[in-house]
Amino acid sequence: MGKTYAVIGDPIEHSLSPSIHNTLYEIYKLDCEYIPLKISIEQIPDFFNTVLGKKISGCNVTMPDKQAVIPYLSWVDPDALLCQSVNTISAEETLKGWSTDAPGLRTALAQFGCRYQGKNLLLYGAGSAASAIALDFARNGGESIAVCNRSRAKAEAICSLLSKNAPLPAKAVWDETFLEALETCDLLINTTPLGMSHTGLQFASLDFLEALPGHAFVCDLIYNPFETRLLARAKELGLSCTNGLPMLIFQAFLSFQKWFGILPTMEDYKMIYEKLVSELGKRG
Ligand code: NAP
Repeated sequence: MGKTYAVIGDPIEHSLSPSIHNTLYEIYKLDCEYIPLKISIEQIPDFFNTVLGKKISGCNVTMPDKQAVIPYLSWVDPDALLCQSVNTISAEETLKGWSTDAPGLRTALAQFGCRYQGKNLLLYGAGSAASAIALDFARNGGESIAVCNRSRAKAEAICSLLSKNAPLPAKAVWDETFLEALETCDLLINTTPLGMSHTGLQFASLDFLEALPGHAFVCDLIYNPFETRLLARAKELGLSCTNGLPMLIFQAFLSFQKWFGILPTMEDYKMIYEKLVSELGKRG
């Protein structure tokens, strides 16, 4: 067997990443395997000391480890460092880290004809995915950003990060200002776990969607369930939308490119998308 790659996180057993990467190894005839490794934050030092660079050549990183891996890397992409979130590590020579989450989302949205240039973004949630998406949106032509989060301080922290690093208007919104932001919103992205299977968490009301203009695009980073209540309601209102599965696949493609220098094709995307839809269907 050639090289081994992994996705680390905790929990990790339901990750779809092994399915995506092992399929790419088959397509590109690479003598590699990709495995899930349950690594809690406490196990990270041991993982870097005994596994990464020794038994495995690189890894993806998922919750809760995306920030905790950073001190162990020799080089981190500057925007990943600003957002304190790494999801891709190469251990070929030195230990290098990137985040492909936000570029993966940008690529996914472009497949739906939704490009950032000139758009007003409303981010719901202000965690690590939100801050990476906000910075990437600002770097790629976005017009303005509003951030709504239950802890206002975290929404304000994203705006502060943007004010120091990207020239675009950004403001934290809630209550009345949230409703105002909806009226001028071109792209709404849910980055919270509200609506995710097995969490029991749901939006208290989805009436706020009615304030969106008819051309607005709605994106939920969740892909399990395949259609969240947020997306079902957005569809009822005639809005274009997507779940997080295209983002998941494109962030994986961009990780694959970091490791192998090959960007998978749209043919690969279509095939893997169908495969994952079937896998998610079997899980229920
Ligand atoms: P995170 O850093 O933990 O941030 C979660 C955000 O959700 C925070 O703003 C948090 O608010 C908010 N939140 C949590 N529980 C909430 C509740 N009950 N009510 C209202 N707000 C709540 O997580 P993350 O890394 O940004 O990931 C966010 C989501 O994106 C996750 O669902 C993750 O699975 C998904 N994701 C998907 C992909 C993909 O490829 N599709 C990639 C990355 C992430 P507070 O700040 O107040 O705690």
